[in-house]
Amino acid sequence: SESGNTYYRVVLIGEHGVGKSTLASIFAGVPDTLDSEMLRENTYERTLMVDGESATLILIDMWENKSQDNWIQDHCMQVGDAYLIVYSITDRASFEKASELRIQLRRARQTEDIPIILVGNKSDLVRCREVSISEGRACAVVFDCKFIETSAAVQHNVKELFEGIVRQVRLRRDSK
Ligand code: GDP
Ligand code: MG
Repeated sequence: SESGNTYYRVVLIGEHGVGKSTLASIFAGVPDTLDSEMLRENTYERTLMVDGESATLILIDMWENKSQDNWIQDHCMQVGDAYLIVYSITDRASFEKASELRIQLRRARQTEDIPIILVGNKSDLVRCREVSISEGRACAVVFDCKFIETSAAVQHNVKELFEGIVRQVRLRRDSK
């Protein structure tokens, strides 16, 4: 592109235990690779080639924090250029939480058209499934966002997830 490389802040949000940090560690790759760097605690940077154009994602996995007040969560709601709202397909409560988070995000960023992907993780755990694919899809339609099921455990659709969020940000950028 004319402006060279582009940087996008992507924030992982979702209930405890759904697989956010596992997705982040796959994104980051093994610690000694040169193109993957842990910037600060729970923040990862990686440059991806998507559709022939490079993009650098700053992935932020600090939604869960031990501090009592929730300024970190408020901060997370403000700083993302894009969001991955993650639930576990084996945990209906985490799916319901995803809806709450979508509403919270919409409130926090009212005037903006922020790219979001609803992520149904743990798709490998077929026998423990509590949320069907069609429920996930229907929810994404209501949310007006993209949907993907992933398995961080067997690394299914994880690459597609991160490429997908780059495409979503670009679509909005290009329509401006
Ligand atoms: P977080 O709290 O959202 O950051 O979730 P974690 O990444 O810490 O994952 C919680 C637990 O779920 C860990 O024991 C992970 O190994 C496990 N886990 C994460 N992703 C998957 C997945 O896709 N499939 C399976 N079977 N387990 C997963
Ligand atoms: Mg975590």
